[in-house]
Amino acid sequence: MIIRELKLKLTKKQEAELERWLFHLTSVYNWTVRKIELDAKDKIYYGKFDLINLIKLHSKKLKIPAHVISGVLVQAWISWQRCFKKLSKKPHFKGRRNKLNSIPFPDSIKSIGEKEIKLLGLGKVRFFKQDIPEGKIKCSRIIKRASGWYLLITIDTNHKFEVKENAPIVGIDTGFHSLLTLSDGVKFENPRELKLGAKRLAQATRGRNYKLIGRIQEHQANRRKDRNHKISRNLVENYSTIYITNDNLKGQQKKFGKSILEASIGNLIKMINYKSAVHADRKTILVNSKFTTMICSSCGAKTGPTGFSGLAVREWNCACGAHHDRDINAAINVLHLGLGYNLKAPAMEQLTGMSI
Ligand SMILES: [Zn+2]
Repeated sequence: MIIRELKLKLTKKQEAELERWLFHLTSVYNWTVRKIELDAKDKIYYGKFDLINLIKLHSKKLKIPAHVISGVLVQAWISWQRCFKKLSKKPHFKGRRNKLNSIPFPDSIKSIGEKEIKLLGLGKVRFFKQDIPEGKIKCSRIIKRASGWYLLITIDTNHKFEVKENAPIVGIDTGFHSLLTLSDGVKFENPRELKLGAKRLAQATRGRNYKLIGRIQEHQANRRKDRNHKISRNLVENYSTIYITNDNLKGQQKKFGKSILEASIGNLIKMINYKSAVHADRKTILVNSKFTTMICSSCGAKTGPTGFSGLAVREWNCACGAHHDRDINAAINVLHLGLGYNLKAPAMEQLTGMSI
């Protein structure tokens, strides 16, 4: 499954029509959120399709395709399901502050031209030309951004790329200084533009220039996505099994706020996971990273920097004589944990006979 984003060239009429849809769909979303909440108090719970049936007739009245309306309903329904399962907070209403900015088209699209696509209710929609991989378009979504309107299409295809044969295994530590550190010493940093963008965003935020904030945020999101694609592909190409820290990202987010959010490591890990799953001989495994920074990867003693206070320590020497780069040491420990070793025992003894 691949997702492609097409920048749309809408006519004035189509744009006005989409704005009209967004206006009505906001009400549909809010109505659904409210309906589920009120009825849940009376112990009435809805399945997806019960809800869709409830407002089946509105499609004609609002002059919006039925599958678009049910798409929004399902979106609200899923938010509640996540909340009921305690995975997320109660869904918020959409409004001026929390705008609904995307329109789902859950039904598949039969054909797409080189420069245009036919969408129910909008007619032929033109877009800026780009290569689109062959495959069935499963579903799509129109998104309104600061820089214009986009169509996200999900294409069902076996998108495999070439990977190295007999690739080694690797442990990966995630962090603030380097985005990713590999047990073989390779480090992935955040691209320079992403860092510059963060500075500009801070400036725009201080100046309360909301239009600019929107544009920079969009740019940053694109850069992060691009970075994640490149890194995840590189890793899956070059390593057969990837052990990666399962850090408590939420806890760190609270402590460090923006910086970890900017790193958006969670999404990167998802992407690595997804890409390795596409390839039969690739695996990504999350490893609980407790003590990986503290423990010396050579002798197993707890001589390394501890906790958040030790964050400034980049390099250290262990009593056993080993000199460690903080992040590489942690990455090696992640690898060892992934292989099932006991970190507190000297690694060399356990590794005898193993080639890594
Ligand atoms: Zn040591």
